[in-house]
Amino acid sequence: MIYADNAATTKMSDAAINIMVSLIEDTYGNPSSLYTFGQKAKEVLEKSREDVASAIGSSDPREILFTSGGSEADNQALITAARLGEAKGKKHIISTRFEHHAILHTLNKLEKEGFEVTLLEVHENGIVRPEEVMDAIREDTCLVTVMYVNNEIGTIQPIREIGAICREKGVIFHTDAVQAVGHINVNVIDDNIDMLSASGHKFHGPKGTGFLYVKKGIRLVNLIEGGAQERGKRAGTENVPGIAAMAVALKDAVASLDEYNSKVTPIRDRIIDGLNKIPHSAINGDLTRRVPGNINFCFEGIEGESLLLLLDDKGIAASSGSACTSGSLDPSHVLLAIGRVHDVAHGSLRLSIGEDITEADADYIIASVSEVVEYLRGFSPVWRDLMAGKRQFIL
Ligand SMILES: *Cc1c(COP(=O)(O)O)cnc(C)c1O
Repeated sequence: MIYADNAATTKMSDAAINIMVSLIEDTYGNPSSLYTFGQKAKEVLEKSREDVASAIGSSDPREILFTSGGSEADNQALITAARLGEAKGKKHIISTRFEHHAILHTLNKLEKEGFEVTLLEVHENGIVRPEEVMDAIREDTCLVTVMYVNNEIGTIQPIREIGAICREKGVIFHTDAVQAVGHINVNVIDDNIDMLSASGHKFHGPKGTGFLYVKKGIRLVNLIEGGAQERGKRAGTENVPGIAAMAVALKDAVASLDEYNSKVTPIRDRIIDGLNKIPHSAINGDLTRRVPGNINFCFEGIEGESLLLLLDDKGIAASSGSACTSGSLDPSHVLLAIGRVHDVAHGSLRLSIGEDITEADADYIIASVSEVVEYLRGFSPVWRDLMAGKRQFIL
């Protein structure tokens, strides 16, 4: 069995599982309780906050707010910037066409409230151009939100440059860094980031954990009312075992970034080279400015869903677009944003490999995908028309 869907979720690390189990068993006090039992849990919570802060280059643990995951962090960041902007009469937001739905759907909600949203193009290579961010900023812009790494095509955005532009213009800059944190080097200071979202289960931590980095001076707006937890900015008893496990997973991931990169990148490139040999196929997103583990291809004349199911039969777990869009008939908004037409976008495959991948796995993936694509084309009416010259090849 080859698990090649790490962008959907990752397996928890042993260290994360161990600390989670031990805390569930022994440190179950409520961190808000004053007796020793509670204070032990509180210590674990605050130590985790320090570890998370330093993993992303923040020197102030008070800048870390624990959430239930990336989606909540994205929602809270956007609502905060919107409310702060609104108070100053600024109701324009800049984002991109290929954000995660946690961003896009929140932006839709804000549009209904009267905010104006500019969605930037991401071009054929899946990369935002900083000069276009610069040109889009207006007097009434209250927020720029651009994801660090796209979850489908893995492209890395020029976050540092965009952050510098926002700093200069005095506009809050948020990044959904869910696919970046723990996978590439992320530093909120060097990268000029005001707010950053991350999710535990994307870097070998538990599901239902995440955090929002908020630069000192930005007053967060609550999404959840009720108690004084998280400095009054998020009510609810903290998920101490989950948070501690996330912190351990993040610390380990950041400590082994170089090793991860040097192991996974060559295997990624081996798979890309192999799949490129399939006729009428094309990689999605920039060839080199992508995270170590991401491979995303379109194959003309087939359906991504059938490809997935047949790969599953061969023991390969992959994805066709993001986990959130599978089950819907619309092709991925990300692939449409980079200019793939509907028919081609439907035949997409995302492989997101992890550090346990081997060269033998890579060769098995290449052979299996090649075989399945050929098999599916064998009875595809679209392929027959393409071969008969009744339709034009696009790829
Ligand atoms: C997974 C993901 C999210 C959502 O994170 P959850 O913790 O699952 O809520 C948000 N943004 C991106 C880019 C993601 O990949």
